[in-house]
Formats: sequence, structure tokens, C-alpha cells
Amino acid sequence: MTLDIARIRKDFPVLEQQVYNKPLIYLDSAASSQKPLAVLKKEEQLHLQYYGNIHRGAHYMADKATLDFEAVRDQVKAFIHAGYREEIIFTKGTTESINLVAFSFGEAFIHEGDEIIVSEMEHHANIVPWQMMAARKGAQVRVLPFDDAGRLMIEKLDELINEKTRLLAVCQVANTLGTVNPVQKIIEKAHARGVKVLVDGAQAVNHLPVDVVALDADFYAFSAHKMFGPNGVGVLYGKKELLDQMPPYQGGGEMISEVSFEATTYNELPYKFEAGTPNITGVIAFGEAIAYLENLGIAAIAEHEHRLLNYATEKLMEIPGMTIYGTQPDKSGVITFNVEGIHSFDLSTMLDKMGIAVRSGRLCADTVMQHYQVSGTIRISFGVYNTQDEIDQFIAALKKLVTMLS
Ligand code: PLP
Repeated sequence: MTLDIARIRKDFPVLEQQVYNKPLIYLDSAASSQKPLAVLKKEEQLHLQYYGNIHRGAHYMADKATLDFEAVRDQVKAFIHAGYREEIIFTKGTTESINLVAFSFGEAFIHEGDEIIVSEMEHHANIVPWQMMAARKGAQVRVLPFDDAGRLMIEKLDELINEKTRLLAVCQVANTLGTVNPVQKIIEKAHARGVKVLVDGAQAVNHLPVDVVALDADFYAFSAHKMFGPNGVGVLYGKKELLDQMPPYQGGGEMISEVSFEATTYNELPYKFEAGTPNITGVIAFGEAIAYLENLGIAAIAEHEHRLLNYATEKLMEIPGMTIYGTQPDKSGVITFNVEGIHSFDLSTMLDKMGIAVRSGRLCADTVMQHYQVSGTIRISFGVYNTQDEIDQFIAALKKLVTMLS
């Protein structure tokens, strides 16, 4: 199905503006996508009509907000094809979801001398929590490397996994390289050796259909703000039998069954992991984002983004001195690059003044920068609302700047 991008753009009024007197070209959706009107209107409607704190009120507004909040849990369950609603935990983002697992799985299952494997292409959010947990427990973090094309060297898993390995953490789609990793195969390999797997799905959920049961992922983490939803909302999917064995991550209201100074008891799943008032507004509006995505269709979105990816890659390669990091054929809609002799910060600042929003710097992926021995890069990333015409304007601007700065 071909999407009507001009019509879709009408759902994103923020895109119809000028910055520095130039029409905005937003090429930073991998950092955060823009939000359609349906999401913004839902937030407004909640606050104008029925906002109340959830799970604890005995009045109309609290009840209605609770019903809506819990309905989004069912929506998320269906969206990622989880088996049970208790396996869906709301967090404030992928980062918190991973920290939750690193802490709580770590407390239950990681002991001195154990090992955890992370890949070399991870976002900092899927490295640092494991390092912190390893330091606390006396465990060791080992690294699954990628090659220069941005392909994860999964054949190395056979030697990396040993009897001390407890968990492997890997992204389904890399935020810098765009590589779509063969997570199903990775999970099979890990499970064959008794190792649990956490998949960082932050860059995957809006590009690929996700089925956590078919993948057999033990944990799957993602953020709403990268899939048209509000910021401050994330999801942790975890297998019930594992979550049941893990201690709470934070203490407070909601996560308890009963509190006394003698013996506090904890709530059942998923509330055991949802201490305190959650982002009620964000979660309820996230439901609209999922509906919006599903209405357009992940396959159709991916097809559009792939067309942009191929077109932009071809055009970028015409620029002298161009290096693209991540050249795997199985790639999603991000392109990270440098132009020889020009600092990424200078280029991005000048592109910004031309109305073009790109990401620059280390992209929360220092280990990827270290792999290529660069101090920074530029990244463009696509959303469903981007057009080929925008790519043409971006390429024209870039060519002009490269000529000027070379
Ligand atoms: N993992 C990946 C692959 C990401 O791209 C990001 C955000 O860029 C994160 C984790 C962290 O997500 P958040 O900042 O929403 O917690």
C-alpha cells in the first residue's frame, strides 16, 4: 500500500513551520518522532474532561482514567503480541526499562564471577546499566563486536557464551548504524546455552512488526516517543515466569500489597514494578499513537522509509569525501555519516540555520564512535512524514556547505 504522505503531513502541524525563515525539514525522528494531532488532542481531552489519579480513586474521573490507562496496556500487549497483560510494565522510557532489568534481574540471577554480553553497537542505555550492575555484583561485561559494515559478528557468540554467561543484551535496530540485527537467531543461540536475552527495541517498534512470543525474547524494551507517542513513557515486556522471580525495582505506592513495619508484601504483576504515580497522561495518549501507527500499517511505513533511505544513500554517495557508517543491506531509516575534513558540529549547525534538523555528535553510542575512530558524526533519520523533496533540499544544502567549507 502506498501512503498519502501529503495527507499524513496534515496530521503533524508542527512540520508546517519556518525556522530561521526557512521551511522546517525534520530529519531527526530516530531521536524523537513528532506527534500526530490525535495524540495531542487526547492529552488535552484527558485534562479538560476526566483527569484523575489511577488505581486509587473511588470517583468517576479516577475510574475513567484508570480504565483508559489499563486499556492501553491491552493495546501494547496486542501490538507486540505478548501472551499476558501482566507482562507489560509501563516505565518512563527504554532507559528505565533496561535499568529495571539490570537491577532486578541482576539482584535475582547475577552472582560474583557471572558474565553478561552486550553488543558493541549499543546505545549507552544498553551498556551503562549493565556496567553498574556488574560493578555491584562482581560480574563482568563482555562485548559482541560488529564488523566495519555494521554487521554484528554473531558467529563469535559460540566462543563468547560460556557456563558463566547469564544474559545477553542487544538492540534489534542500531540507532547509529541502522543495522537490523537477526535477533531471532541470536535468541536461539543464547537460549540453546541457557542464556536469557534482553532486546532493546527502541529503534525497531515503529519500523518492524514485533512479536515477542515468536521471537521468544525474555525482555523487550521500547519508548513511546520514538513511535509518535509522548515522551516520558516506555514499556518493558518481560516473561511472566522471570518477572515473578525478580524483586521490585523501586519501592512506594502501588507496588505493595500491604505495608507494615514488620512485613511489607508486594503487589502482583505488573504493579510490583510500577511504584508511584505513573505518567497517566502520557500512557493514555500513547494509546492514540499505537492506533495511529496501526492504522497506517508498519509495513507501509517501513516501505516508505526504505524508499527514502535508498534514495538518500544514493544521493549522499555522490558527495566527495563522504563516509557512511553502517552499510548493511538489512537496514532501517537512519544514515550516519561524515564528510572528510569537515567537523560534524559545524555541518549540523549550518544545516540547522537552513531549517534542516539533523542529529550530530556521538549519538549516545561512544563505542560505535570508537570502532570507527571518529569523535562525532551526523545522523539523518526518517519518519513517515518525510518526503523525497525534503531529501533533495537536504542534499542541495549539504552540497552547498561542503563546497563552502572544503
Ligand atoms: N536504545 C536505543 C537503540 C535508542 O535509540 C535510544 C534512544 O535514542 C534508547 C535506547 C534510549 O531511549 P530513551 O531515551 O527513550 O530511554
